[in-house]
Amino acid sequence: MRKTKPLYEGKAKILWETDDPALMVQEFKNDATAFDGTKHEVIEGKGTLNNTISSHLFHTLDEKGVRTHFREKTSDTEMVVERLDMLRVEVVVRNIAAGSMVRRLGVEKGTTFDPAIVEFYLKDDDLHDPILSEEHVRALGLATPEQVSQMKERALRVNEILGDFLLERGIRLVDFKLEFGTMNGELVLGDEISPDTCRFHDAESGEIMDKDRFRQDLGGFLEAYNEVLSRVSSK
Ligand code: ADP
Ligand code: UDP
Repeated sequence: MRKTKPLYEGKAKILWETDDPALMVQEFKNDATAFDGTKHEVIEGKGTLNNTISSHLFHTLDEKGVRTHFREKTSDTEMVVERLDMLRVEVVVRNIAAGSMVRRLGVEKGTTFDPAIVEFYLKDDDLHDPILSEEHVRALGLATPEQVSQMKERALRVNEILGDFLLERGIRLVDFKLEFGTMNGELVLGDEISPDTCRFHDAESGEIMDKDRFRQDLGGFLEAYNEVLSRVSSK
C-alpha cells in the first residue's frame, strides 16, 4: 500500500489517497488551532503525540469490539485507515460540564452528568459548528434515524470503554468529540481520539492534560500530551 495524493487537508490532519481505493493514510500535523482557527500555532512533536495516542485508543476500542476505521500506525505521524463517507455531524459526549456547555447554559463547571449527555453538532466551520437536536439531524438529512440511534449507542459505549481504560491510568474523561462515517452502509467510527478532541483531567490533582492548555495559554502543552501518551501506553 502506497500513499498517492492528498485528498483533503484540514486544520490538524491530511487525508491521503492510496493505491488501494478502500484505504487512506491519515497524517497528523503539528498545527494547533482553536476558536474556529483564529488561534493558530505550530507545535513541533504534536502530530507524533496525537497519532500515537489516537492509535492506542483506537486499538483499545477495537479490542472491545467497537468498529473503527483504524488499521495500523505506519509512521510517527501516520496511520492507515479505512476510507469512509463521513457524516457531517460531530458527536460530543459529556461526563462533566466544561467548555461550550458551561458558556451556553450557565451550568456550573465541574457538574457531573450520570448518565452522560450525548450532543450533535453540525460540522461546518462557516456556521461555527452549531448544536443540533436529533430532529435537526434527521430533518436536514445528515443521518438516518437508525444512524442517529446507532451513533448515540456507539458514543456511549466508547465513553464506557475509554472512561474505564483512562481512569485505570489516572485520567478522568471529562468530554470528547467523535466523528462517524459509513463504509458499504455500515456505521464506522473515524477521525481521531486525542487530547485535541477530548478533555482529560488528572484524576487526583484535576490538572488539565488536553488542548485547553493551548486554548487557555496555560503552558506545559507538550509535557501534558507526553504524560497522556505515557499513561495510555502503560499496561
Ligand atoms: P477539519 O476538517 O475539522 O479541519 P482535520 O484536520 O482533522 O479536520 O481533517 C480531517 C478530515 O478527515 C475531517 O474532515 C474528517 O471528517 C475526515 N476523516 C476522518 N477520518 C476519515 C476517514 N476514515 N475517511 C474519510 N475522511 C475521514
Ligand atoms: N471538540 C472537538 N472539535 C470541535 C468541537 C469540540 O474536538 O470542533 C471537543 C472538545 O475538545 C471537547 C468536546 O469536544 O473535548 C466538547 O467541546 P465543547 O463543545 O465544550 O467546545 P469547546 O469549548 O471545546 O470549543
